Amino acid sequence: MSAQIINGKAIAEQMLAQLKSRVDERASQGKRTPSLAVILVGADPASAIYVRNKRLACEKVGIRSISYDLPVSTTETELFALIDELNADAAIDGILVQAPLPPQIDEKRIIEAISAEKDVDGFHPYNIGRLAVRQPTLRSCTPFGVIKMLESAGLKPLGMDAVVVGVSNHVGRPMVLELLLAGCTVTGCHRHTKDLAANVARADLVVAAAGKPGLIKGEWIKPGAIVIDIGINRLADGSLCGDVDFAVAKERAGWITPVPGGVGPMTVATLMENTLLAQTLRESSVC
Ligand code: NAD
Repeated sequence: MSAQIINGKAIAEQMLAQLKSRVDERASQGKRTPSLAVILVGADPASAIYVRNKRLACEKVGIRSISYDLPVSTTETELFALIDELNADAAIDGILVQAPLPPQIDEKRIIEAISAEKDVDGFHPYNIGRLAVRQPTLRSCTPFGVIKMLESAGLKPLGMDAVVVGVSNHVGRPMVLELLLAGCTVTGCHRHTKDLAANVARADLVVAAAGKPGLIKGEWIKPGAIVIDIGINRLADGSLCGDVDFAVAKERAGWITPVPGGVGPMTVATLMENTLLAQTLRESSVC
């Protein structure tokens, strides 16, 4: 049996088209264009690609993106000052600071400096906390994108045994919370997990988010399971791959996401959705 491939790129394009209709409709009602401030510090090539994709998605949806490309020598104080300015600017709905940041800047402090209501990445402890207490508002883009993807593919995670491999603050940990919210029984695996293979083998739904190519062996996958690969790894030949041994896993899984073209485009689409949501939430709190 060969798995059905979940085409994240196509699902994300549909989401962007729907968001564009909503933005256009709001414009026809005389509402302000939503706006996203995108801050890039330094010239990391991968970050530059991610930021370009986010700016292109803004164009597609009709969100105004305002670029701040700062030198790698930018100090934490300078970045705080820019964030303060953007927090106070009523015309800015979302603020995104692309990671990784240079070593002189503490990423955790920067995330907390962004106003929680403009935290469209969904990384602020306030927004993660809201997800933890089942009152999600601005949800971390990648895990939220996975939930959207499952919905769009008609897959219902309620009651499933789910295993998330990798529990970082921005990806794996909010993924665990999203799947709990969706009614799964969730196990979060990490580098100290004793028997990763046994955990993966009993999962109805596996989400890989470790950033380790080939970590999840195809033969571990339970026949018919859903396999979502968040990992993005660049190989020596320049090609991209996920954390799952795709060729073998796809012969056992019921559903599987490719890399590239799986979760990545969903992350960008949910960022756009969060930006529109941030704008509408701020409008309703102002009224
Ligand atoms: P991270 O390095 O912050 O976290 C990795 C996690 O994996 C940690 O919890 C660690 O304990 C765990 N881990 C590492 N080795 C392991 C092992 N051998 N066994 C079990 N667990 C192990 O990384 P991150 O920022 O969470 O990103 C993870 C991956 O997801 C990366 O490849 C990243 O590029 C990718 N990513 C993709 C998207 C997307 O849109 N598709 C978005 C964000 C991140």
